[in-house]
Amino acid sequence: MSPETSLVDSHGRTLRDLRISVTDRCNFRCLYCLPETEAAANFFRDRWRHTPSKAIRHSWKPKHEILTFEEIERFTRMAVSCGITKIRLTGGEPLLRQNIANLVSRLSAIEGVKDLAMTTNGFLFPKFAEALKAAGLHRISISLDSFDQDNFKRLTGMAGLDEVLDSVRIAKRLGFHPIKINAVVIRNLNDHEMEALCHYALDEQIAVRFIEFMPLDSTKSWQRDYVVSSSEILDRLRNRFELTPRKPNHSAETAQRWRINGTDAELGLIAPVTQPFCGHCNRLRLTADGQVRTCLFSLREHDFKPFLRGDASDQEMIDGLKAIVAQKEAGHRIGQTDFIQPARTMSCIGG
Ligand code: SAM
Ligand code: SF4
Repeated sequence: MSPETSLVDSHGRTLRDLRISVTDRCNFRCLYCLPETEAAANFFRDRWRHTPSKAIRHSWKPKHEILTFEEIERFTRMAVSCGITKIRLTGGEPLLRQNIANLVSRLSAIEGVKDLAMTTNGFLFPKFAEALKAAGLHRISISLDSFDQDNFKRLTGMAGLDEVLDSVRIAKRLGFHPIKINAVVIRNLNDHEMEALCHYALDEQIAVRFIEFMPLDSTKSWQRDYVVSSSEILDRLRNRFELTPRKPNHSAETAQRWRINGTDAELGLIAPVTQPFCGHCNRLRLTADGQVRTCLFSLREHDFKPFLRGDASDQEMIDGLKAIVAQKEAGHRIGQTDFIQPARTMSCIGG
């Protein structure tokens, strides 16, 4: 595909990866994303145990603002015609979107989609796994921050560890490959569980990804002190496991990967805070309400609904998308004095 027909930004990066958030709603209340109570949102403060457990009200986008499957499919076809090859469905919790397998089958049928994946908290996966596989979903990433029932509940607001572990077993049985578990590591909350999560990945022969905590939580509670850097994670895990670095699959890979020696299990570290990979970022995001985002940390969104709901031709949409892509930020500014946290949270943007 020539540069004229591809999505190339003004820094010379060609975009290949589209993340589509299909809903802003979620059945979990992870305290680093959508905390349920003020106490949970204050997890990082010494006094958090004494904070009154008042519920936080989250508001969701009304249904008429959420893109229909037809609109998502049209956007995806257009993006794929411009060189996007990887699609990931996310949210909120993507499995809350009604009839999600129907969307998967629409997207998997698009010629040019080489990789169709989903990120889920796994709670509802056992119910939909077979339909998703039959619809053409290739890969699944399941979030799993803790291997301890109480800590899992504390982190996610839901007593759902057994369901999530069940999901991993079902995904393996159905032949999803590779299966990854994602864990956000937060100091003094679950960093003591990294080794146990690695052992779990070893037992199941799957991949585990440790993600640095990012300032994208709904209560803006993020603090640098609670980020466990990927280099610290690596040092700690090297004390317990023999690790061999893996070659990146491509230059835009976000995870640094290691093989746990003598096994097929893999460790990945995603370090957006301490080792930003913006220079090679090839991602584009579409939110559930039709906003195009050129970065997780964009302060500006581009409303694509007028294109999708008006009478724009495919060529007008492509031109509109290219103009947006041209504005992709050079990088995020976490840690800089001028960093501003985006108004919308990870659950709305789609991780
Ligand atoms: N609900 C699904 C899930 O949790 O897998 C998909 C959406 S969630 C926003 C996607 C990923 O973003 C999850 O792996 C989650 O752990 C991660 N995430 C959410 N908030 C985060 C934060 N503040 N910092 C780092 N990762 C975060
Ligand atoms: Fe929901 Fe995923 Fe956010 Fe947790 S990380 S609250 S599961 S959207």
